[in-house]
Amino acid sequence: MNALWLENNKISLRDIPLLRKPDEALIKIRKAGICSTDLELVKGYYPYTGVPGHEFVGEVMEAQDAAWIGRRVVGEINAVCGQCEQCLHGRSTHCENRTVLGIARRDGVFAEFTNLPVANLHPVPDSVPDEMAVFIEPLAAALEIQQQIQVRPTDRVLLIGAGRLGQLIAQTLALTGCDLRVVARHAHQQDLLKRRGIRVITEQQIQPWRWDIVVEATGSPSGFSLARQAIRPRGTLVLKSTYKGELSVNFSSMVVDEINLIGSRCGPFEPALRLLESRQVDPTVLVAHEFKLQDALKAFEHAAETGVLKVLIEP
Ligand SMILES: [Zn+2]
Ligand SMILES: [Zn+2]
Repeated sequence: MNALWLENNKISLRDIPLLRKPDEALIKIRKAGICSTDLELVKGYYPYTGVPGHEFVGEVMEAQDAAWIGRRVVGEINAVCGQCEQCLHGRSTHCENRTVLGIARRDGVFAEFTNLPVANLHPVPDSVPDEMAVFIEPLAAALEIQQQIQVRPTDRVLLIGAGRLGQLIAQTLALTGCDLRVVARHAHQQDLLKRRGIRVITEQQIQPWRWDIVVEATGSPSGFSLARQAIRPRGTLVLKSTYKGELSVNFSSMVVDEINLIGSRCGPFEPALRLLESRQVDPTVLVAHEFKLQDALKAFEHAAETGVLKVLIEP
């Protein structure tokens, strides 16, 4: 099958053997999305060799349980053992033996087909088109924030970063009724937010020590220091992006101000599907361009340009 292959910080198109794993479903990719993690994998921030890509909607071609065959599905990206300490205590996204779709020891979705355990799959309701369903993974990641902390309607919430993930975080946080402001660098990002009635704020307008909750979604040291200045004593700082290399942080001041620090990663798929079904969020506004798999190299180039939001790939 045709696939995008990542090796030694280089992506190329290859014809690779189609894998059939007896205990997993074979899924035909309908659409896949490029996210920042994919761009970082190519830059070599994490060691990975194989097919990249983890955001997808597809159709089950083969599965042990025939009831799945022909169904349109999305899939959770962590394939877990079900037996380790983390799995047994309900923290399966932290499975000690996990493989991660297109990220760690498991070929991903920038290909004609992929494999996943049936336990990872969620059927997509007919009313949710592929253009929406392909966003399920980052949308679930956005919802993880509300899975981890309570966002009250009276909370002043500052979101720093309005890129691919930031837009989805903004749309989901807005649903809580909190007093939300978003720092968005680019005019297009600001427009998308304003169209949904979400208020944007400039860095200069941010009052220090005033915000109950600050969500950092830039993954840059400057984003973190802005978040650190904005959070009030005993406030909650949610980190939604990984950082390249190490951050230099004054942790003593975090102790003195009694800041709650929350790392936040993968989230729940079912609520994300419900939000798509009810059209309470609309991720399709993020789509910048769609490429065929044979143009995947161009797709990656386009996705890496500043201000470009979601680039989709279709086999
Ligand atoms: Zn992603
Ligand atoms: Zn496990």
